[in-house]
Amino acid sequence: MIARNKFRNNLFIYYSSIFILFTLLILSYLYKREKEFRISTLNDELDNVTKVVDNYIKSNSIYENGNWIITDSIVRLLPQEELRVTVVSPSGEVLYDSSVHNWKSMENHKTRPEISESLYSDFGKSIRKSGTTGKDYYYYAKYYSRYYIRAAVVYDKKTINLLTVKKYFLIVISLSFIAIWLVLLAVTNKFAKSIDRLKDFAVRVANNEPFDSHSKFPKNELGIIGEEIVEIYNKMLTTQNDLSNEKEKLFSHLNALNEGIAFFSKDKTKILTNNHFIQFMNMISGELTISSANFFKIKEFYPAVEFIEKQTGIEIRSSDLPKVEYHIGKNSKFFRVQCVVFHDNSFEVILSDITVAEKSRLIKQEMTSNIAHELKTPISSVKGYIETLINAPLMEPEKQKYFLEKALAQSDRLTGLINDIVVINKIEEAGNTYLKDKTRVLDIINEVRDNFRSAVDSRGMKVEINVDDNIYINCNRSLITSVFQNLLENSVNYSGNNTTVTISLYNQDDKYCHFSFSDNGVGISEEHLGRVFERFYRVDSGRSRKSGGTGLGLAIVKNAILLHKGDIQVRNKTGGGIEFLFSLPK
Ligand code: ADP
Repeated sequence: MIARNKFRNNLFIYYSSIFILFTLLILSYLYKREKEFRISTLNDELDNVTKVVDNYIKSNSIYENGNWIITDSIVRLLPQEELRVTVVSPSGEVLYDSSVHNWKSMENHKTRPEISESLYSDFGKSIRKSGTTGKDYYYYAKYYSRYYIRAAVVYDKKTINLLTVKKYFLIVISLSFIAIWLVLLAVTNKFAKSIDRLKDFAVRVANNEPFDSHSKFPKNELGIIGEEIVEIYNKMLTTQNDLSNEKEKLFSHLNALNEGIAFFSKDKTKILTNNHFIQFMNMISGELTISSANFFKIKEFYPAVEFIEKQTGIEIRSSDLPKVEYHIGKNSKFFRVQCVVFHDNSFEVILSDITVAEKSRLIKQEMTSNIAHELKTPISSVKGYIETLINAPLMEPEKQKYFLEKALAQSDRLTGLINDIVVINKIEEAGNTYLKDKTRVLDIINEVRDNFRSAVDSRGMKVEINVDDNIYINCNRSLITSVFQNLLENSVNYSGNNTTVTISLYNQDDKYCHFSFSDNGVGISEEHLGRVFERFYRVDSGRSRKSGGTGLGLAIVKNAILLHKGDIQVRNKTGGGIEFLFSLPK
């Protein structure tokens, strides 16, 4: 409030001073004009007197006959009160004076200021006390070639009044000054109110304090400007809020991304990075750093840095932004580095962990070459048998049958191999297409045992099942069937004769049933044990092939269990034989 009044007072004093100064100037100018006008009116009047007297002198040839006394008669006719007329010769001798009878004895008037002035100007004038009459006079003198005629009026109150500017003129001016001053006061008040609101707004905005944007500005130009400023500010605030919301969203989005992203300005200063970027940078460099500026010092990123540096000074079109992409392999992890330079030479770097995709690509590559290799053997066998049959058309039917049976066995193996490849691929590529159901485990185990009954019996083997019939798991029946089938088939093929296979539920918790599948056969030597779940890995390939193995059985077992979010381990039993421990969800 004090500040506001101070401002208003300052403004008021400022405007009042200007106004007073201006008024005084006008006043003094008008006063001067008025005074000049009054003086010139008196001068005109006295000038007329001199003219009348001159005419009288001429018409009566007074100068020639020296009868100056008759001049009194014309002076008396003139209307001015206490008018004094003096005629002075060019040498200063007084020829006539209406107020002095004995004018001839008057002192020389040549040096009277009005007389000497009138010689060089149109007229001469002066206000002074007369040495002759002892009265104050307003003198007006004019030179008429043969003499000077001087008219004077007594400089008494009346003349002073005439010459003084009238007071009412000053009063009118003063009154109008007061009126204008009051208007000024009101205007200043209104003006100060607008300024005060604007100042309040500016101070609050600067201090981040709330501002009541609904309280109104006074209805004047400044008020309108103030309202416009507040409105623009409010709009700016809304835009700023929207922008910071969008920025927040962008930040959360960037941090939620699996990629590491960093934006750098033209001069390689960080604009923005997400957490993954620093994380991936550390994984790639093998060092611990939290500064994204180190990006430019890590040798794995030199290709990207070189690429960025090459773009400096080159005009970049938004439609065709320069990009570079390459892969880095580090500590069994794979990363993709992408770099895009924008038209203002700022750039972004994207780091993606492509380990899974890269590994699966490598596995697929390996698998493809393994498949080709695996297919070659049965196909060339089938081809060999057929060629033998073609080349020996007279072969005994017994032998022919033998070759045909061999070819059939190989093509069965081929079918088995292809089926296994299809299963393992499907688990990997389209695991979610396997529908799951509550399934009684004993049903699956019994089904598998029945399938292998003759093989089990022929080898003098036994199958012991320690799983209650009330054990259910949530599974894809066909996949879990192939788990038990592969395990039993392996025991049949590799454990040896007269062995016992034991299938038990050894534990269960809230979520999982834990199974043990074991035989008491030959087992697997420790050096091979760690790799039996790999695709196409065989301990003894000759034996595996002979028994129709594809090398994919345990890979299918492991992948099927992992697909059910279970787990599998393998170990040799102390008494001999192999044991698989695995869990399946309830
Ligand atoms: P295959 O198709 O050759 O049977 P698997 O992936 O099923 O392929 O098995 C991998 C290897 O593990 C087999 O070649 C075999 O040598 C060995 N193996 C698997 N199960 C047993 C077992 N119960 N006893 C001994 N060796 C086994």
